[in-house]
Amino acid sequence: MTLVVQKYGGTSVGTLERIHRVAEKIEKAHRDGNRIVVVLSAMSGETDRLLRLAHEITANPDERELDVLLSSGERVTIALLAMALRNLGVSARSFTGRQVGIVTNSTHTKARIAKVMTDSLQRALAEGVVPIVAGFQGINERSDVTTLGRGGSDLTAVALAAGLKAERCVIFTDVDGIYTADPNIVPSARKIKKLSYEEMLELASLGTKVLQARSVEFAAKYGVPIEVKSSFREGEGTLVTHEDADMERAVVSGVAGDRNQAKITVVGVPDRPGIAASLFSAVAGADILVDMIIQNVGYGDDLADISFTVPRSDLPRAMGLVQQIAEEIKARTVEVKEQIAKVSLVGVGMRSHSGVASRMFQVLFREGINIMMISTSEIKISCVLEEKDLDRAIKALHKEFDLEENAS
Ligand code: ADP
Ligand code: ASP
Ligand code: MG
Repeated sequence: MTLVVQKYGGTSVGTLERIHRVAEKIEKAHRDGNRIVVVLSAMSGETDRLLRLAHEITANPDERELDVLLSSGERVTIALLAMALRNLGVSARSFTGRQVGIVTNSTHTKARIAKVMTDSLQRALAEGVVPIVAGFQGINERSDVTTLGRGGSDLTAVALAAGLKAERCVIFTDVDGIYTADPNIVPSARKIKKLSYEEMLELASLGTKVLQARSVEFAAKYGVPIEVKSSFREGEGTLVTHEDADMERAVVSGVAGDRNQAKITVVGVPDRPGIAASLFSAVAGADILVDMIIQNVGYGDDLADISFTVPRSDLPRAMGLVQQIAEEIKARTVEVKEQIAKVSLVGVGMRSHSGVASRMFQVLFREGINIMMISTSEIKISCVLEEKDLDRAIKALHKEFDLEENAS
């Protein structure tokens, strides 16, 4: 008998009525003889609410305590769903991350999974029980609760699918698949039937939040096929798997937008060796992911400006470090800009096609949108812009690269 891991996101369990509906879906699949392990998110908005509470108590919440708080949202939904299933005659049992044995490192609020125990889940399955697992959480070696980064329930689901050698991992969410752009921004976006791990990883890393980037990385590593589907409607979704012959090799497969960015500029930095090394090793040492970097060398005065982007949520920590180093290296000032965003084009076809970048820049120029930073890799091009221009940029690029529903 095959085993499937099903994950339901925040909107799918956002109200009691929706929890009942999820219970009915699981009851039917269970009755049809499927073996299922369920992973849940907290009710939509709950993790944000808990974060706000913490920041109302203190500007700088202790991260260990933050994880205790944030992990509570998922305990609510697993218990409620298990009760709803029991009401329908299904023997279901809730499991926290600790009860499963999802062991992580100690990087609170974005811990990495080190080991996933499966014996307790295997035992439950053997008894005919449907395990309902809390997503987004684990424990470190000291048994402290950790969380896996925003959107981390996707990672819990993929990691369990890998550990249990499930046939696949189905991510049920509020859209019925992965589209060429966020369908909430571009209504004419087209659903993609099949997508390679590589492209999905780029899209997810560049802001397509339908799957958490780490979950895609994990799925690729262990070869877990991921299916993204609607929890509200029947029908085919999108399959994310190894690149194969019948995948479309579009030059551009999708457009991604990311608002979770901030730009730091260290102004008037002495132009000599070792400066960038000391700046970025401090930031990296604090587990802050620096994305784009540009350095402008000034004329004549031997001073340069270094600009780089970090996740907006890490900005206060990054600023603390950067201010300190700026003083040490006698830089003139440090400037911050929060209202920025990143727009990106992703497609494996870019490997063999040139000219995508220049077309992208032309479109943005035509729209009167200023580009602040640019970066490219083999299968993507990204530009940093003013946040207010992001939706317009996504729509214009989506049109330019023929991604509309009725195009080709
Ligand atoms: P969940 O709560 O189920 O985890 P998320 O909010 O994390 O759901 O992800 C689903 C959302 O991802 C959609 O509502 C949609 O707005 C957004 N999204 C962004 N880009 C895309 C895309 N290319 N295709 C589909 N959805 C996208
Ligand atoms: N509840 C967590 C979040 O909002 C994890 C998840 O939903 O995947 O980020
Ligand atoms: Mg999500």
